[in-house]
Amino acid sequence: MTEAPLNRHDHFVKLFPKEPAFRLKQIEKAYFTESMKGWEDVTTLGKEMREVLIKEIPWMSCTPVTTLSSKAGDTHKVVLSGNDEQYFESVLMRNNRDQWTICVSSQIGCAMGCTFCATGTMGLKRSLSSDEIADQYRFWKQFLSQRPELPQRISNVVFMGMGEPLVNVDNVKKAIHTWLDYTDLGPTKVTVSTVGVLPVLEGILTDPDWPPVRIAISLHSPEEESRRKIVPTTAPNFHTRLAQWTKDYELEHGNRNHHITFEYTLISGVNDNEEEAKRLVKFVKTTSAVKVNVIPLNLVAGKEFVASPREGIEKFKKVLLDSGVDVTERKTMGSDIAAACGQLALTIKSDGKVVG
Ligand code: SF4
Repeated sequence: MTEAPLNRHDHFVKLFPKEPAFRLKQIEKAYFTESMKGWEDVTTLGKEMREVLIKEIPWMSCTPVTTLSSKAGDTHKVVLSGNDEQYFESVLMRNNRDQWTICVSSQIGCAMGCTFCATGTMGLKRSLSSDEIADQYRFWKQFLSQRPELPQRISNVVFMGMGEPLVNVDNVKKAIHTWLDYTDLGPTKVTVSTVGVLPVLEGILTDPDWPPVRIAISLHSPEEESRRKIVPTTAPNFHTRLAQWTKDYELEHGNRNHHITFEYTLISGVNDNEEEAKRLVKFVKTTSAVKVNVIPLNLVAGKEFVASPREGIEKFKKVLLDSGVDVTERKTMGSDIAAACGQLALTIKSDGKVVG
């Protein structure tokens, strides 16, 4: 595994150690000003400084290699290359407000090894820098501005692409702060989705710098042993500690627009029967008021898991609803371009070309 590249902020400080802090703010602001296309446009900086920056710091931390669009036109996926030619993916999905949600990656590959997930089979190559995370927003903004016939607003960001964001928490946090400072995204429009890395979740409760974003926990099972078969990194006493954590996080950050979600991928014959649904209700009752989002499994080549049939999904949801649990179902989008949840994994063809 290699380290995440140096971010622009640290690179700039290395080049210009005596520059005041406001200079960095001017630079960050310029990155997110759509009319600015490169260092030469940042005329608030002196000519000499711009010349150094043109040579030393790339204007974008990643460049597109290939872009795919779903037949329905509601999902777009890009393979991006970091400046070290390591590849990762990012997805743009049209949401029900006719705006866009970006599904960002936080790492290249993933070490968590969830058994239904294509990214997990890649192993972890490296974490993304905060710029590589934040620039996925910049890339999609550019993509939309080149297509004026499409809605232009990016209203939400979800960390549901490649990687486990809490393993790269410092860069994830920096990227979120960049969006909060320089775009119109508010904290409740950003969702960090995690398998539930408990020490990090517990750490953010007392982190004064943690932004009050929404959290989605990939639960997938109400019991520790069966969950470990789906999420092998499940820690001892996972559910008890998680239930307490949901209460503590709500206490710290809860408000009318804020919630914690449990993501529950329904896998036929594994975690989708009515007994399992009843156990899930029992567990949810021990937590703060969380919402359950059921996800029909997306097929991944080489994985033996099968999606629950429609009837099974409805029965499962009914048990939860009848018990007063707030349930939603995630719409599957972009499965024809392998952009749906759990499907992101790069394919390198024999000619060296990268396809999504
Ligand atoms: S589901 Fe998420 S955490 Fe699990 S292997 Fe896939 S990318 Fe990693």
